[in-house]
Amino acid sequence: MIGNFHGWAAPTAGQALTELEYDPGTIRPEQVQVKVESCGICHSDLSMIDNDWGNSSYPLVPGHEVVGVIETVGEQVKGLAVGDRVGLGWFAGSCMSCRPCLSGNHNLCAESESMIIGRHGGFADRVRANWEWAIKLPKDLDPASAGPLFCGGITVFAPINDFNVKPTDRVGVIGIGGLGHLALQFLNKWGCEVTAFTSSEAKAADARKLGAHHVVGTRDQAALGKLVGSFDFILVTANVALDWDAYIAALAPDGRLHFVGAVLEPVPVAAFSLIGGRKSISGSPLGSPATVAMMLDFCTRHQIAPVIETFAMNDVNAALDHLRSGKANYRVVLNS
Ligand code: NAP
Ligand code: ZN
Repeated sequence: MIGNFHGWAAPTAGQALTELEYDPGTIRPEQVQVKVESCGICHSDLSMIDNDWGNSSYPLVPGHEVVGVIETVGEQVKGLAVGDRVGLGWFAGSCMSCRPCLSGNHNLCAESESMIIGRHGGFADRVRANWEWAIKLPKDLDPASAGPLFCGGITVFAPINDFNVKPTDRVGVIGIGGLGHLALQFLNKWGCEVTAFTSSEAKAADARKLGAHHVVGTRDQAALGKLVGSFDFILVTANVALDWDAYIAALAPDGRLHFVGAVLEPVPVAAFSLIGGRKSISGSPLGSPATVAMMLDFCTRHQIAPVIETFAMNDVNAALDHLRSGKANYRVVLNS
């Protein structure tokens, strides 16, 4: 069906979402059109609504953790058909001809199209994306809770895979929210010794249930002091400035402090704090389409699923307030 789409849009920065009808134009040959069944709410949606990163344009329909069913395919779409249930994440297109794309690293494409930058996303009845970013759901995966895997999930799964985290590694996860609660599940099943760093004491029991072997306060200087030289990998999902020196000191030789959380403040690093132990600091955006498919298989094999709280799409503003308040346990999902 080609016709007007109906979505929920921020009219300007930081405003409550209001209903919006928009004409999506002619479908491009490489695009699929998806009827949205559900859409998770990522912290990046809040950052885009608020224009925290300076790249928002309004009206802005957020939403980039979509599960839905394909209802139209462009004439160049490969491997997908009308009726397929797929997931969509942050990316809605990549150039398919640059070296990163040809290497399978479509998430590193400089020409990539984001679902909610300069176009409308998944807080809507319909959304479009290029075929390479519409990943079929395995039949044994629960579609009702799968949406958050397509941004939150892949963002923490990809670095575990891409940086060769080993089952024998000791790994820390800072921030147990939408991304962090999935990282704990992945790392536990990966075989690692997992430490959750949380600023919310109330999350300690859940963190253990999700797969953490240890729970430490994010700003507990005394506890961090005892962990010097302990971690092969620390995954930062929080988006706030922390005592990075203490976390670098907590890395073992060859350890890596890896950022996926969008910390806006610069991270001050003394070269000598890295040199002696041959340590690294890095960051990454989501993961490639092939890694998404690998993650979905891993979730099916290990019964990993996002822990969700559901709201009706019409209650999107209440759902956003819930996430803003820091009370979401652990991912809010909107149902169409
Ligand atoms: P979220 O659900 O809000 O979780 C963030 C967690 O960070 C919170 O649950 C909290 O965990 C911790 N945190 C928040 N404020 C804190 C504070 N003042 N002090 C200490 N800890 C604090 O957010 P999310 O959806 O997981 O997203 C996390 C970040 O990743 C965001 O910046 C988002 O934009 C970014 N992101 C990046 C990518 C990428 O490709 N790199 C993809 C998706 C999202 P505790 O309660 O356990 O402390
Ligand atoms: Zn996201």
